[in-house]
Amino acid sequence: MDNGKNKETAVKIKVCGIVQGVGFRPLVYRAARELGLKGWVRNVGGDVEIVAQASKTALDRFLTDLKENKDQRYEILNMELKELPVSALDNFAIIPSGEAKEFSMIPADLPVCPECLKELADPSDRRYGNPFISCMACGPRYTIIEEMPYDRDNTVMKDFPMCSACNKEYTSPESRRFHAQTISCNDCGPYLIYQDNRQREAEELTDREALKKAVKVLEDGGIVAVKGIGGYHLVCSPFLETSVVRLRQCKGREEKPFAVMFHSVSEIKKYCDVSKEEEILLTSKARPIVLLPMQEDLMAPSTNKKSLYCGAFLPYTPLQHLLTEELGPPYYDKRQCIRTANYP
Ligand SMILES: [Zn+2]
Ligand SMILES: [Zn+2]
Repeated sequence: MDNGKNKETAVKIKVCGIVQGVGFRPLVYRAARELGLKGWVRNVGGDVEIVAQASKTALDRFLTDLKENKDQRYEILNMELKELPVSALDNFAIIPSGEAKEFSMIPADLPVCPECLKELADPSDRRYGNPFISCMACGPRYTIIEEMPYDRDNTVMKDFPMCSACNKEYTSPESRRFHAQTISCNDCGPYLIYQDNRQREAEELTDREALKKAVKVLEDGGIVAVKGIGGYHLVCSPFLETSVVRLRQCKGREEKPFAVMFHSVSEIKKYCDVSKEEEILLTSKARPIVLLPMQEDLMAPSTNKKSLYCGAFLPYTPLQHLLTEELGPPYYDKRQCIRTANYP
């Protein structure tokens, strides 16, 4: 018996919230295709607009799935539905963005995700060792957006044309990087540069050479300004007293303890007590600095300035992962802690 559930219905849905830069359009696209919907999805200002046409059953299922938000990637604050007359629509597609002057919610920068970390460490992957690896689920957003809607042309990535391999992923619905605006690889996109401020005329080092040099300088006790997502970190080894003292002079920071970036939670646990709640905080998307009680202060005296706590945090950019992987802080024994820097 037909209760009207198989009758074609069409609706326009306006979705407000954190729905750009979080993979919302590809997600809508996949769900719509699976359910056999016709219509389109597009960014409009900071919102997303969907036109969907299908049987009432399929449409209801589609709307329930959207509201359910299983993997919690986006945040819907409001959804407005307007019924439309049924028309001759094509298969579901992602179409070019529209403009709107309404208030936009800009998505936050996201820490590098576990899948990207796997690729980062896999020598057979074409993004092996890429310090700017990202995907639909991770990478900078807020910091690189110049205006909404969140499309590549409205971000600093517009200066980096995609190579053909990246373009293929960008346009393939089955790819993790389908419509990922930050997509790039070792053949296209931003790259690493190392500059020595004492030798301005010296040739710039790039890519692997730049990373290697930064690691060497830090190991030798130097200070490196490492570009993060939204600014620079002034970095030195927390084990080398002379380096930490020099960093304090550079920053004009006399007493406040320094935060220490560790490669992993298991590394932190070699120095600090970490409760379950603190571990959740450390690995949360905001990657906050968490004050943890130290088992024993094994770092240079000027790092923690006699505090019983260590301000620990985890890497959130691929570059920080690459650096901390090389540098630790490794588990030093007490004798090594009083090493002095040999960086001139
Ligand atoms: Zn990722
Ligand atoms: Zn590429």
